Order: sequence, then structure tokens, then C-alpha cells
Amino acid sequence: MSSIHELPFLQEKIQELKDQGVYRRLPILEGANESEIVLNGKRVINLSSNNYLGFANHPRLKKASIEAVEKYGVGAGAVRTIIGNMDIHEEMETLLATFKREEAVMTFQSGFNCNAGTIQAVTEAGDIIISDELNHASIIDGARLSKADKTVYKHNDMNHLEKVLKESRDKYRNILIITDGVFSMDGDIADLPSIATLAEKYNAMTYVDDAHGSGVLGESGRGTVDHFHLHGRIDFSIGTLSKAIGVIGGYVAGSKTAQEWLNHRGRPILFSTALPPAAVGAIMEAVKMLMETTEYTDKLWKNARYFKEKLGKLGFNTGHSQTPITPVIIGDEAKTMEFSRTLLDNGVFASGIVFPTVQKGTGRVRCMVTAGHTEEQLDRAIAAFEKVGKEMNLI
Ligand SMILES: *Cc1c(COP(=O)(O)O)cnc(C)c1O
Repeated sequence: MSSIHELPFLQEKIQELKDQGVYRRLPILEGANESEIVLNGKRVINLSSNNYLGFANHPRLKKASIEAVEKYGVGAGAVRTIIGNMDIHEEMETLLATFKREEAVMTFQSGFNCNAGTIQAVTEAGDIIISDELNHASIIDGARLSKADKTVYKHNDMNHLEKVLKESRDKYRNILIITDGVFSMDGDIADLPSIATLAEKYNAMTYVDDAHGSGVLGESGRGTVDHFHLHGRIDFSIGTLSKAIGVIGGYVAGSKTAQEWLNHRGRPILFSTALPPAAVGAIMEAVKMLMETTEYTDKLWKNARYFKEKLGKLGFNTGHSQTPITPVIIGDEAKTMEFSRTLLDNGVFASGIVFPTVQKGTGRVRCMVTAGHTEEQLDRAIAAFEKVGKEMNLI
């Protein structure tokens, strides 16, 4: 018999992963996350990052980050409620609130723990959380931490959402509707105007996780709420500072009341150390850059349109994306993974995404176009898609 310290029950599960062909090793990036990278020793075009605006290695962010380190050091030193609350944290939140055109902002150490901390703080037993079936894992985990009841509605299906609201209204005290702003696997946008209207009809609160809309949609990347001009009608507007903003962190933008409550009951605020100065400095610089100019978001959308149009002309199915997220839908799982591997051999890194992350038979290679790509890089990527697509009889 093996010893408990060899974790036999985990070894067994790992073996199962290997048997199913889903065991993986993490690809290793040598250097900064940019549009062209060295991955596992090979130079490739990067179509897999969430670095939408090319900010992750931007000279202005790096400079701001270094300056913040020189003045404030490398760590906040404590949770914010004890002594970790620096003037730059407050400044960052004021700046973000101005940018987002909301009353107040509460920041968290990541988008993930923003959801984990906020959902449980604003719901309790006797409430119900109504969630889009395709919402992100961190929303699912966040909802699990709440004592409220939970239910899901069919993806972006407003008739189904209304049916659930109708059934729930009299049974519960508060209702919280949660949706991603932009859905990460298909690039489609939530029907927020209808959600806001239904929420008002049934006296429910609204919560939008705009991880993939922040820095992408709305005026100069102000997000999905701004895109639809719904300011004041979405109670909790969650953004991430880790994707388009290029750094790390998450936040809730909304009312002063929401900010005050999370300041007292957001568990990651109370029990996890504040964002490091390096991150705060870089985040503020990124937001200032977006407030100065739309050139970054303009370039992102220009590149995304260019890439999508070329792939479409080649005969690839790019689904119903409304954002720079560009799925190339292959269908069969094994074929999808082979397509992704062969693209990599041809100098393009685009992740294959298959069941259970997406529905069976809808395997896709997901391309993330960024403002950092040059037209020449996009052309090279498109040429690789054409070559491999023809070799594999996909087009
Ligand atoms: C990426 C993502 C998160 C997590 O954000 P991090 O800042 O990376 O922790 C949360 N929600 C959605 C919808 C995401 O896509």
C-alpha cells in the first residue's frame, strides 16, 4: 500500500487526466507578453493573450510602475483595513470612478477575488442569484460562497430570464441578476439594455462582470455599461485591471453605498493584502492614457475587424462575435486541437478550446487580436491559417 503522503487519490485522478488525453503542461513564455513572443523556445505570433491594448509591456506603464516602487516600495504591507491603505490606492479608485462615469469604485486584488468577495457580500439567505448559464467560473464560485439561492437562465435568453424573475419575485426578498458583459468564448455581448429593463420591472439588482469589456467596449474602453449608455442602471459593474489594462486587479464600479458596504464586508478587502504599489502606479497610468486618447481602443478594433474579415473571406466560421475575441469554429474536438497544434508549428499561437469549456461539437481555436499587433503580423497569421486550413481540408 502506498503512503498517504504520496497522495494516492490525487495520483489516480492525474492518471485519469492522462488517460483522457487532457493532461497538459503549461507553455512557457520567455520574456514579456507581446504580439510576437518566444514560447517554449520558438518565436510565434501571439493570438492568445488578454493584453487587448498592448499595455502589459508598455513603456509608460513600466515607468509609472517603477516610480511607484521607488516611492512606496514593493508591498502594501497589510490589508487595507489595517495599514495597507495608501494614498495611491484611494487616488486609483477616484480615477477609476471618473473614468467609469460612476459614483465610486472599490478595487480588489484580482477580478477573480472581486467576484468571490462581492457576490457574497451583497446577498444573503432569503435572496436569489439569477445567473447566465455561460457566466465565468469566478462568478459561479462567488455565488457558491453566498447563502442566497441560485438559479441559471439560458444564455442571453431574455424570455427565460423574465420567466425566472416572474417565478422568483414573490418568493425572495432581493434578486441579483448576474451576467458577463462580454462572453469570453464567443465574444458576444450581453443584452444589457433588456436586462436593465427587466430588472427594473421586477425590482431586481444588476451585476455585470465586464472583464472582457473593460478597455474594449464603450468610449475609450469604459466598458459595456458605457457602450449601452446604462450608467446608473447597473448596480455592480465589475471590471478587471488584468486584461486590457495590462496589470492585475479587479474592481466594482457603482454607487457610493456599494463602495461603503464592500469596504466593510468585502472579505478580500478585510483579509488579503492590498494591491502592490507597482500595480497601482501602472494601473493609474493606463487609465490616464485611455482618458487622453481613443487611439489604443481604435487600433484594437481596427485590427480585430481586419483579422475577422480576412478569416471570413478565407471561408472560416468565426461565429457571432461582436468583439475582438475571434473564435474560429472547427467543431470536432480532436480536429480543433490538431488545428491549434499545427498552427503553432507554423508560427501562430492560438489556443484550442473544446468541451467541457465549450459545448461538445463546438470546438474552436480562439484568436485574441490586440492593438499591439502590426498589420504584417496579422497577415502572417492569416497566411498560416490559410495554409493549415487547406492542408486539413477545413476551407
Ligand atoms: C478573466 C476573468 C475574470 C478574472 O479576472 P482576473 O483579474 O484575471 O482575476 C473574471 N471574470 C471574467 C468574466 C473573466 O473573463
